Amino acid sequence: MPDQTDRVENVVILGSGPAGLTAAIYAARANLEPVVYEGLQPGGQLTITTDVENYPGFPDGVQGPEMMDLFRRQAARFGTRIEQKAATAVDLSVRPFTVTIDGGETVRARALIVATGASARHLGLESEQRLLGRGVSMCATCDGFFFRDQDIVVVGGGDTAMEEALFLTKFGRTVTIVHRRDELRASKVMQQRAFDHPKIRFEWNAVVDEILGDNKVEGVRLRDTRTGETRELACGAVFVAIGHTPNTKLFEGQLELNPAGYIVTRPDSTYTSVEGVFACGDVQDWTYRQAVTAAGTGCMAAIDAERWLAEAE
Ligand code: NDP
Repeated sequence: MPDQTDRVENVVILGSGPAGLTAAIYAARANLEPVVYEGLQPGGQLTITTDVENYPGFPDGVQGPEMMDLFRRQAARFGTRIEQKAATAVDLSVRPFTVTIDGGETVRARALIVATGASARHLGLESEQRLLGRGVSMCATCDGFFFRDQDIVVVGGGDTAMEEALFLTKFGRTVTIVHRRDELRASKVMQQRAFDHPKIRFEWNAVVDEILGDNKVEGVRLRDTRTGETRELACGAVFVAIGHTPNTKLFEGQLELNPAGYIVTRPDSTYTSVEGVFACGDVQDWTYRQAVTAAGTGCMAAIDAERWLAEAE
């Protein structure tokens, strides 16, 4: 029997959101016995949302965590091995590739499917970290409920910020969108909805310099981006909605990334710049970023990997 470190897996999948688990379902059904390393957020970003109403096949909607549990069970049913561990390093310079797990054991893989997703961006303030879960949140659908009749701040000027702000009007007394410029990045239709809402107001050309409060959020200190002047705004919650960062640190210098850090895939495929490495889901998609598109590219990655392995043999 070869020892564990000599074992070479056919397909190792990094990430367990819709992309990674769909890749697993297809790879398992192709008898490739895939191994999934779930990563730091098992189930991916959908596990921090509540209602998913736009995933086809669920006419009454489904809860994000429940949907990911269904994906997981479907992948497991066909023999996927799912490990509650995360990759901490990869060596893609020689095949089979080497993946270091949780800083210790290594696994080797003939083909690697990267489905590590993207994470919500933070403001980078010490007070933001300290008050996370105490009024600071990255997810309105998860936490909006806790801030009934309070004044709420949303940071960001994109579609996510508008969507979060509109959702939060169900709970908050007022919702103030703080944006660093005098023009929104959000689509016109979302902008209009926010402009039209009586509870939503705007702070233009402003950034959050500090989130105030010891044990819970009590306000924000805003800085005017043109004059540098600061002033305080009282609020009970701050929702940060300033976009996402792809989880590609592991692959820097090894896979081609675009200037924003997303993995570059060949058009109409999931092939990356390294043969035998395939990428799917939000880690390579800065345009659509939907669960259903992530699942679609996960399927593509498994088919690409299967065909590439067959040819390599
Ligand atoms: P975006 O990258 O589109 O927007 C991020 C926003 O945050 C920008 O307004 C940006 O400002 C601001 N920002 C970034 N960094 C900072 C910072 N450090 N401090 C203050 N502000 C900052 O991300 P989104 O998550 O909003 O959207 C991502 C994609 O998803 C888009 O393609 C969007 O269209 C799509 N989407 C669509 C939805 C819908 O159609 N219903 C809902 C949600 C998302 P600036 O504008 O100055 O760069």
